[in-house]
Amino acid sequence: MKIIIASSNQGKIKEFEQLLPNIDIKPYTHYLEKFEIEETGSSFQENAIIKAKAIYDKLPNKKDIVVISDDSGISVCALNNEPNIYSARYAKPDATDDENNQKLIFKLKEKHLTKTPAYYTASIALIYNNQIFTTHGWMWGDVIDTLKGDGGFGYDPMFIPTGFDKTLGELDPTIKKGISHRTKALNLALKILKLF
Ligand code: IMP
Repeated sequence: MKIIIASSNQGKIKEFEQLLPNIDIKPYTHYLEKFEIEETGSSFQENAIIKAKAIYDKLPNKKDIVVISDDSGISVCALNNEPNIYSARYAKPDATDDENNQKLIFKLKEKHLTKTPAYYTASIALIYNNQIFTTHGWMWGDVIDTLKGDGGFGYDPMFIPTGFDKTLGELDPTIKKGISHRTKALNLALKILKLF
């Protein structure tokens, strides 16, 4: 069985590879030209399905193939759950991680928030044999109004997971691997994979 990741986000691909050692896993760009997938859904789950389907439908050979996608993001409770499903394009379409971080910092400072509760969500969609399955995982913590450390990706340098006093940018990556939204969603996805 081959697993194709429906993402070209290097940070996510690296985490998937670490979370699924000993499994033949490749980004979709190994099989197809890179193309834009419009995330028109209104939830992480809808967007995860849209991404997985877009890749699955284009594959010429679907035998023994599982396409896995992840749609994820951060939600800040005091900001009415912003940026949520818009996490990747918070500052603007095709924003860099730093531009998105700076926008979130600006929004926190506007409300005089130096540290406030937030959570990451990951929704994973799997397509195998034309059947769609989805799982979810969450990681709780706080966001702060500064960037600390350069580990992880995305909003990690401003996210302190519950039970720690450092950001995911500062903490060892093995810690994130143990507690992350993606790990939790993927562990559930692995149970589904075993049924195929
Ligand atoms: P997606 O690729 O459309 O699912 O967008 C995910 C976006 O959410 C990323 O670009 C990051 O900004 C953010 N994000 C999701 N998961 C993480 C994570 O584990 N750490 C940091 N940022 C994340």
